[in-house]
Amino acid sequence: MSLMGKIRLLDLSPPELAKFMGFLGERPFRAKQIAAWLFRKGATSFSEMTDISQRARDLIKERADIAPLLSPLEIVKAPDLTRKILWLAPDGQKFESVLIPQNDHLTLCLSTQVGCQMGCQFCRTGEMGYVRDLSPGEILGQILGVKKLLTAKERLTNLVFMGMGEPLLNLEPVTKSLAIISSPDYLALAGKRISISTVGIVPGIEALGQSSLDFGLTVSLGAPTDELRDQLMPINRKYPLAALKKALAAYPLKRGRRLTIAYILLKGINDGPSEALALSRYLAGLKTKINLIPFNPWPNSPFERPSEETIQKFWRTLYDKGHTVIVRWSKGEEIAGACGQLAGQTSGQIGG
Ligand code: SF4
Repeated sequence: MSLMGKIRLLDLSPPELAKFMGFLGERPFRAKQIAAWLFRKGATSFSEMTDISQRARDLIKERADIAPLLSPLEIVKAPDLTRKILWLAPDGQKFESVLIPQNDHLTLCLSTQVGCQMGCQFCRTGEMGYVRDLSPGEILGQILGVKKLLTAKERLTNLVFMGMGEPLLNLEPVTKSLAIISSPDYLALAGKRISISTVGIVPGIEALGQSSLDFGLTVSLGAPTDELRDQLMPINRKYPLAALKKALAAYPLKRGRRLTIAYILLKGINDGPSEALALSRYLAGLKTKINLIPFNPWPNSPFERPSEETIQKFWRTLYDKGHTVIVRWSKGEEIAGACGQLAGQTSGQIGG
């Protein structure tokens, strides 16, 4: 419910919207009409919904609103055409999305929380701490808002839940958003084009595994031993590597899919041959592809990016062990929009 006691339509899952229309005495097709206006045609007011009778519009408007619509407070564009969008929520909180063009893909990196409580040492968002969860409408609002910013030639092709926050600690809004994103009457995006990234929240991985939702799962590993991971990613003290591996081994992958393992490379910390071999051993028996992500520095960050030679050697060790592994150079580094650099800040932050 909103502050005015009205239902927020953007927060409702497809069955909830149908139920709400039933409650108003409207027939089920009305929910599909509303969904088409909100998600396909980008309507921001009831007056635009011209194929719905004035009487029905008045009735819905009395009980519901289309908030939270997000306003882009600032858009910063990098030389590689990556765009970072800073959103202003109705309560004054700020959070970011990053739009990343790559070959024929246009990927939107979404936030799921304002700030983050996970405290990963290599992440700038972790530095700012946790502020609050985003609602389904605020998660979806990032997609709807970005669609309005696209040029006539651009089309959003992929979504990654990899911005600010840990998606599996905001599970209900995230799963509700996923249902809306993939529903044919709503955003109709195929599961292979959606990825959820987690630091390894074991109960969340188990819950997602039991859901019927279709998406790819990415796990940020950061270190192949408990000793090192305890330091770099404090969540490891709660869900150590063995528990995480058990959950990943039990995770039901769809045919032809693999788990994505994101491994951030930090100079002199986790980038040596012994870590590469330990990572290979840890992943044995799991169906994975590994993304190696060279660290993206920010001002006063405690880590550095390894040399290209070290990165190449790390890659080679895993490749020779038979892993599917690529080096993923983050885009948007110049605008502090690359992996691990988001901090919900306004202008003047180019380069950090
Ligand atoms: S990497 Fe993700 S989970 Fe870790 S602190 Fe940053 S935003 Fe949070």
